[in-house]
Amino acid sequence: MRFVPREDWGAPATSAASYLASARGVKIHYLGTAYTSRAHSLCDDYVRSIRATHLADVKENYADIAYTALVCEHGYVFEGRGTHKRPGANGNADLNGRDYAVCALLGSSGLTVPPDAMLGGLRDAIDWLRRDGDAGDWLGGHRDGYATACPGDQLYAWVKKGAPRPSGGGQAAPGDDVYPVRPGDYLSLIARRLDVDWRDLAKVNGLREPYTIYPGQELRIPAPAVREVPPFPGRDAFVIGRSHPAVEQLDYRLIAKGFTRHHDGDGYQPGPRFTEYTRRNVAEAQRSRPELAGDPDGYPGPLTWKFLFS
Ligand SMILES: [Zn+2]
Ligand SMILES: [Zn+2]
Repeated sequence: MRFVPREDWGAPATSAASYLASARGVKIHYLGTAYTSRAHSLCDDYVRSIRATHLADVKENYADIAYTALVCEHGYVFEGRGTHKRPGANGNADLNGRDYAVCALLGSSGLTVPPDAMLGGLRDAIDWLRRDGDAGDWLGGHRDGYATACPGDQLYAWVKKGAPRPSGGGQAAPGDDVYPVRPGDYLSLIARRLDVDWRDLAKVNGLREPYTIYPGQELRIPAPAVREVPPFPGRDAFVIGRSHPAVEQLDYRLIAKGFTRHHDGDGYQPGPRFTEYTRRNVAEAQRSRPELAGDPDGYPGPLTWKFLFS
């Protein structure tokens, strides 16, 4: 199991949640919001943001992230409240006292098909809770006994099959960042998105002509070459509703850096038009950096441009 303990992603070592001696079993969840696939180096940021959201939830008054564990699309198991802690995600006190809650970083739009590495990680988490957390054999989804779509039809179907480990173990080599291929992806598009040379991408994945890739396949991401920052195109390139080739360059860098939260519902797509979504994603990039956060207006200036290409 590729396990990320709490302290490794920035949570206090022990959860403040109440004690749970044993559980009937494990309930699987998903995010139920838009989620775009990202490099694994950004996954701990994402888990931290979920914890922050839960801690800020006045209605639920959470003492900690609500899940027992979270599993990213790269197959890593992030420790949430952990073993022998009562989860807060199953819907009510009775349900929370009954089963652990494991959440897949899977969206209701964007990344909606669980990649094999994710299924492998979920299987690892279930086995871990049975071994170390006194979880019984019961296995289900959030929707079992509670009115919700969670964990989505795709993942729920797998859970109901008994959560079989995908063939090949569903795990990439340790330390690799991987990119799950989505429908409609092709090699040079992915290379542009990741900002790597498509020939390197083909090479590290052992692909030969005609370079066939398929949805759900996981591509290892080659180390990026040292990049030169292209010249700043000028502020006139970024006007809401207008097109400029630099906007597409900007979009690919926003995707590579993981600033893609705002989009029209179908994942953030690169293109030459500067939209309100582009502006909001740029604003998030600006807020993430102290030197840019003073004026997070979403319109790239030379410093924002430089940061995005760094
Ligand atoms: Zn759920
Ligand atoms: Zn990850």
